[in-house]
Amino acid sequence: MKISKIDIIHEKRPIVISGPCSAETREQLIATSEALAATGKVNVLRAGIWKPRTRPGSFEGVGSSALEWMQGVKEKTGLPVAVEVANFNHVFNALKYKVDILWIGARTTVNPFAVQEIADALKGVDATVFVKNPINPDLELWIGAFERLNSAGITRLAAVHRGFASYGDSKYRNEPQWQIPIELKRRYPELPIICDPSHICGNRVCIPQISQRALDLDFDGLMIESHISPDDAWSDKNQQLTPDALDNLLEGLILRKPDPQSADASHTLETLRNEINEIDDDLLQILSSRMKVADKIGEYKKRNGITILQTNRWNDIIDKTMAVGNKLGLSRKFLEKLLKSVHQESINHQNEVMNRVEAEKSL
Ligand code: PEP
Ligand code: MN
Repeated sequence: MKISKIDIIHEKRPIVISGPCSAETREQLIATSEALAATGKVNVLRAGIWKPRTRPGSFEGVGSSALEWMQGVKEKTGLPVAVEVANFNHVFNALKYKVDILWIGARTTVNPFAVQEIADALKGVDATVFVKNPINPDLELWIGAFERLNSAGITRLAAVHRGFASYGDSKYRNEPQWQIPIELKRRYPELPIICDPSHICGNRVCIPQISQRALDLDFDGLMIESHISPDDAWSDKNQQLTPDALDNLLEGLILRKPDPQSADASHTLETLRNEINEIDDDLLQILSSRMKVADKIGEYKKRNGITILQTNRWNDIIDKTMAVGNKLGLSRKFLEKLLKSVHQESINHQNEVMNRVEAEKSL
């Protein structure tokens, strides 16, 4: 993938993009944008004009008429503007009204046909495009969208991490699943990543914590929804902040440096990292020993005609490990994931041992 620098991200890092979920009226957009510009902390103004809604009948955006309002706030504040596009017509109209940044929403990134249509509409255009992660946790699908745009000649690209849908109760509207944007960053270090805490949280309360986390993970910026009067918003009212609240939130964030600044800090970090490396080596040795025992158990079970899984034994392991692990300061969620994964690997080993014996017999 060929990625070129986006000046505003480069100059203002971490970039702050803010504005209402939806442009509702000219007055609402102007009042919100001017208040945001007055904070001096916002670098790009956003607004949704065409809104992809889960159920029909909710407010679906004012449509193209808001593009002229966007142009107006851009002239008034001197700030670049960003809107969401989901099809050929949106792209055509947004470009006609000189929108500076186009973004592809989560509900569009999931659909390669829609992304391809947008990429085709952008062929030969000098555009800056941000791509939100797809609703489902699928890194390849997210990367696929960048590749489609890249093939159309778009190189000023950035990712927006807005969390991933999950079924059932969660404290988030969309689970952050940080390992996914972290892996994207590892594979494409030159691709900027912006975090959208508003759509991760779905409420105002957790926005500061998610914003700080994103900065601590060295994200390149934040996209946070703001409305002059959030309680009256026509969409996403629970997660929008007033421009004043946004100002306070940004004031409270701590910007840490990605690289240690002093020789002393460097030395301390290196010592601690070496300690971690050694512990990781030990962990691998221990896991390997555990799997060797699993192989022996597999052979024994095979000889004696016993099934691989004994549910009671598995329950015993869970209970015992949870109790000990909790005392050692390891969270329940982590222990569950770790145990499941170790157990699955043990089963795979036993399975392999049994099949190997089976294969030898049939020779
Ligand atoms: C939005 O930014 O208002 C929006 C619709 O976001 P997402 O595509 O992340 O749901
Ligand atoms: Mn929204």
